[in-house]
Amino acid sequence: MKIGAALEFNLMDFPGKIAAVAFTPGCNYRCPHCHAAPLLKDAKDLGSEGFLNYLDTVKDWVNGVVICGGEPTLQPNLIPFIKKLRERKLAVKLDTNGSNPEVLAQLLAEGLVDYVAMDVKGPRFLWPATAGVEGHCDAMTESLKLVARFPVYEFRTTVAPVLRGNGEITFLTVQEMAAAARYVAQTTGTDAHKYYVQKFVPRKDGLLDARLESFPETPLQLLQDIHKEVLKHLPNTQVRG
Ligand code: SF4
Repeated sequence: MKIGAALEFNLMDFPGKIAAVAFTPGCNYRCPHCHAAPLLKDAKDLGSEGFLNYLDTVKDWVNGVVICGGEPTLQPNLIPFIKKLRERKLAVKLDTNGSNPEVLAQLLAEGLVDYVAMDVKGPRFLWPATAGVEGHCDAMTESLKLVARFPVYEFRTTVAPVLRGNGEITFLTVQEMAAAARYVAQTTGTDAHKYYVQKFVPRKDGLLDARLESFPETPLQLLQDIHKEVLKHLPNTQVRG
């Protein structure tokens, strides 16, 4: 299990837990708005043993671990690593892009994860553009269904600028976000999901596609308009800024 970076612990990343965070290197997507460029390129492996040793030193107050990336489900030793966390009685939250339903199915079957957060990369017809790669649409659809069966989970979409076929770059629209929400509800057969509409925040010299660095944050009015429309399809939607 490779760990490219780690945060000691915080109260923000895992609702209700004091959680340390492990960032795994590498991702099979190339979302233009991705902030994790260093993790996707030449991230060093800090080693899982050091992270586990750290957890042993803070076991009196840290009660959870967030595994994010990059894309954690690409790590061949993810499941043995999570089992080591479970042996330490730690709750586990997994962040995923949904590209690997086989791993999600195994985690679900073995009851290894308490909370899953899955990205929904906008409406299905835009996934190749928003994820920056072709060919994962069926896997992501399968993952939507699986994630909705975990004890606690969330779906989330960053309202980011999208590279359009005509060469333009514009934010996801209200109609596109409504289509995304509708697809989640239809695919899973229920609208009872926690869904977060997230603000895009540019970062100078930090995004996978430098053309997006000149964009502003997602305008508040756009987030509010999207929220109003998405609520019609997923009533438990919140804006996360
Ligand atoms: S934002 Fe996209 S490219 Fe970046 S880590 Fe997440 S899924 Fe991978």
